[in-house]
Amino acid sequence: EGQMSKFWSPFVKDLVPYVPGEQPKLAKLVKLNTNENPYGPSPKAIAAMQAEVNDNLRLYPDPNSDRLKQAVADYYGVQTAQVFVGNGSDEVLAHAFHGLFQHGQPLLFPDISYSFYPVYCGLYGIDFVQVPLDEKFQIRVEDYVRPNGGIIFPNPNAPTGCGLALEAIERLLKANPDTVVLVDEAYIDFGGETAISLVDKYPNLLVSQTLSKSRSLAGLRVGIAVGHPDLIEALERIKNSFNSYPLDRMAIAGAAAAFEDKAYFEQTCQRVIDSRDAVVSGLQTLGFEVLPSQANFVFARHPDKDAATLAAGLREQGVIVRHFKQQRIAQFLRITIGTPEQNQALLDALQGL
Ligand SMILES: *Cc1c(COP(=O)(O)O)cnc(C)c1O
Repeated sequence: EGQMSKFWSPFVKDLVPYVPGEQPKLAKLVKLNTNENPYGPSPKAIAAMQAEVNDNLRLYPDPNSDRLKQAVADYYGVQTAQVFVGNGSDEVLAHAFHGLFQHGQPLLFPDISYSFYPVYCGLYGIDFVQVPLDEKFQIRVEDYVRPNGGIIFPNPNAPTGCGLALEAIERLLKANPDTVVLVDEAYIDFGGETAISLVDKYPNLLVSQTLSKSRSLAGLRVGIAVGHPDLIEALERIKNSFNSYPLDRMAIAGAAAAFEDKAYFEQTCQRVIDSRDAVVSGLQTLGFEVLPSQANFVFARHPDKDAATLAAGLREQGVIVRHFKQQRIAQFLRITIGTPEQNQALLDALQGL
């Protein structure tokens, strides 16, 4: 187990940190393990970031990231007071856990879900209950009608890729008017329907998104949340008690430009969606069962082939995918949708295994 030092706060020795997917140093790998976008960011976003690399870097950035909040507000037709921005949606989520989920009752989230949620519960001392997905790996709204201190789930869910309809989210909100429901829309742009359209109607709804996946800016670290101004104010209070300048000058400019370049965004998302359809058929031809995906990845299992063995076999051929040891999903592989060439390399590699 981990080392301990006499210098550590007692709290630190009990922390169980999140383990991110591998970022291999080797080039030439077909990297389908962390759901990055195979296409680059908008050229306009790159130009906007490059324009910020100048003498002004001696000055602090805008602590409120107003330019970015305005771009998000314009994109979604909401007020800037309904928008929060942070250093990756992981940071936005952390502030939400800290500022909105610490109540007497447990936080609810699915048993199969983003593995950062229990980590934040550990960091902020929040009780939680993991609610099992049904036998088809779907969220069942009825299971979330019970006392809680908040609810969070990704939509589409990760790592399953399965989406929850807006109508079901609305039922969930109606059943839980007194606690915050956070919909983590990291993958919403690949075929789901955003719940941002519901924020004016439900003051307890917070929607988070990231620029890491659909806007191809994982390296920039920008995430957003949209919700009632009172929820946003809680996040601002945490942010301003922690780090006043989470977004640097390049991030504010690049992220705003990415939201402004709708044409490029829609075109790259569509390419990923089209490739996903091809990957699903290819996997099915090889005998895999593939869960219905609305994300930029698929979650698949083979009836006769062990997932860990397949992942190891793929790696030997230079293709990396994600395998989770969690018992219920131990026979699944989570495979990011790449370029058509990368996807073909994956299918070719699987063919021989
Ligand atoms: C990738 C991901 C995030 C984190 O996104 P960042 O903005 O890169 O921090 C949050 N939630 C889910 C479900 C994700 O898959």
